Amino acid sequence: LRNAIISDVHGNIQALEAVIAAIKRLGVDQVLCLGDVVGYGARPVECVTLVWETCRSVLLGNHDAAATGRGSVEDFNPVAKSAIEWTRDAITDRESGYLEGLPYLFNGGGYAGTHSTFSDPGAWKYVFSSLDAAVEFKATGEEILFYGHTHYPVVFTLEDRRVVSQRISELDLSPHQRYIVNVGSVGQPRDGNPDACFVIYDNAAQRIEYQRVPYNVRSAQRDILETSIPRELALRLSIGR
Ligand code: ZN
Repeated sequence: LRNAIISDVHGNIQALEAVIAAIKRLGVDQVLCLGDVVGYGARPVECVTLVWETCRSVLLGNHDAAATGRGSVEDFNPVAKSAIEWTRDAITDRESGYLEGLPYLFNGGGYAGTHSTFSDPGAWKYVFSSLDAAVEFKATGEEILFYGHTHYPVVFTLEDRRVVSQRISELDLSPHQRYIVNVGSVGQPRDGNPDACFVIYDNAAQRIEYQRVPYNVRSAQRDILETSIPRELALRLSIGR
């Protein structure tokens, strides 16, 4: 199966539409979404609708949980909190009901997905370091783990009990190693590259490829600036931070 794995769309319909178009060109059997469909961006309703009709599996993110009231905004910074309050008003019971029912984990047999961590998915902790990744390798037995949440594309490899992190654009997977793959963010990349980011995982060829897709950033920014969402959330899209 050729899987497209997307995450952290964050209400950015311009980025999501560009990514779905790229996925269609690339020939993919199924699309998986690791959560945070809403929050930060100005088009949450359209993003929920498109993810809902396109993805085989969709997982719950912390912003999705907060937008429905299932999760709290306690740990959110003031800017994120303000965007969530706007999002709560913008979505209807239809989107809220859909997001509320999303699961924390996906298991594809040999590979698995979550928004934040496998060790404690409801705590919304961040996997940034090799030390964080080591905890996750222990928490689940699947060989290949996909996650999002940090908006930072990186691969952690476990070989002989040593965890190594690398930033790469493609990787042939070895049966003697395990992997934790951050698929990056569709709608709010934070690695200095403003292009939308996602991963193609071919589980027959055992290969992952990162894809970067340019999209109409100005249009997404204009949408944000027309709302009461804090304007820094528009500005950061052009620098990918
Ligand atoms: Zn996110």
